[in-house]
Amino acid sequence: MSDDNLSVSRRKRVNFIKGFLVTLFLVMIITPLIISTTALIYVTRLDKKVDELSDQVSKLELTYMLKSSADEALDSMIADRSDQVIKEEDLLSNQAAEPVKEAQIEESSNKKVYLTFDDGPSSNTEKILDILDEYDVKATFFVTGYQAQKHPEWYKEIADRGHTIGMHSYSHVYRDIYSSNESFTADIDRLSTYIKETTGIEARYLRFPGGSSNSVSSVAMSDLCALMHEKGYEYFDWNISSQDATSPAPSAATITANVLSGIDAHETAIVLMHDAAEKNATVAALPGIIEGIKARGDCDILPIDDDTQPVQHLSPVFEEE
Ligand code: ZN
Repeated sequence: MSDDNLSVSRRKRVNFIKGFLVTLFLVMIITPLIISTTALIYVTRLDKKVDELSDQVSKLELTYMLKSSADEALDSMIADRSDQVIKEEDLLSNQAAEPVKEAQIEESSNKKVYLTFDDGPSSNTEKILDILDEYDVKATFFVTGYQAQKHPEWYKEIADRGHTIGMHSYSHVYRDIYSSNESFTADIDRLSTYIKETTGIEARYLRFPGGSSNSVSSVAMSDLCALMHEKGYEYFDWNISSQDATSPAPSAATITANVLSGIDAHETAIVLMHDAAEKNATVAALPGIIEGIKARGDCDILPIDDDTQPVQHLSPVFEEE
C-alpha cells in the first residue's frame, strides 16, 4: 500500500468519524430539543386546558352562587310578600274593627233605655209582644212562676221573640218569700228551675218584688241582695216608674207621660211597667212610649244583658273575702 492510499484511507476514516460525531452531536442536541419543544407545546396546551376548565368551574360556581342568591332573594321576596299579606290582613281586620268601634262610640253616646215588664206572663203578654215586634224593640220580662202555670207557653214565646227573661219570684207572695233568707232562696230556685225546664234558659237577672228597697221584707234586704249576688244573679231595680200599678189605675196618657218625662234625667234608664191581666192601660200606653222615646233620636231601646249597668236602690253588702 502506498502512502497516498494510506492517507486517503485515513482521510475517509477521519471523515467517517467526523460524520459520526456530527450526527451524534445532532442527535444528542436536536432530539432533546424536539422532545422538549413537543413537551413544551403539550404542557402549554394542558395549561390552556386547565385554564379553560378552571374558568368553567368558576363560571359554574358563579352560576351556583347567583342561583343561591336568587333563591335567597326569592325566598326573601316570598317572605316579604307573606308579611305584606299578613299586614294587609291586619289592616283589613283593623278596618273591619274600626266601624265596630265607631258603632260602639255611637252607641255609647246614646242614652240606653230598658223597658221592663214585671209580674207576667198574663193575658196581656201577647199584646205587649206584638207591639214590641211592630216597633222592632226588645224588652225584658221579669216573670213569675204562678202566672206561667196559666200561660206556660208564654215563657218560650217571650224568649223566642228575642226578649230577656228575668226572675221576679215564683209565688210573688211577699209575706212568704220575704219571711226568711231560706224562703226567698227556695222561691227563686223553684222559679229558676221552672224557667230552665220550659225554655232551656238559665235566668241570671232578678227583680225583687217591690224592689231591693221594699219595706215589707222581714229579712234585711241587704242580706238578700248579697245572697243573690253569691248565687250569680244580678238584680235590677228601676229609675223610671210608669206608675201603672198605682191605685186608682192611671190612664194610658198618664203612664206615657210618666215614662217620657223621666228619660232626660238618666243616661241609663230602666223603666218599670207591668204585664198583668188588669193592666190594659199599660198596653194602650206602650206604642206612645216607644214612639216618644224613638222620636228623641238620642236613645237606644235595649233588652237587659250582661253589659247593662244595673240600677239598684240598695247596694249589696259584701263580706270581705
Ligand atoms: Zn211584682
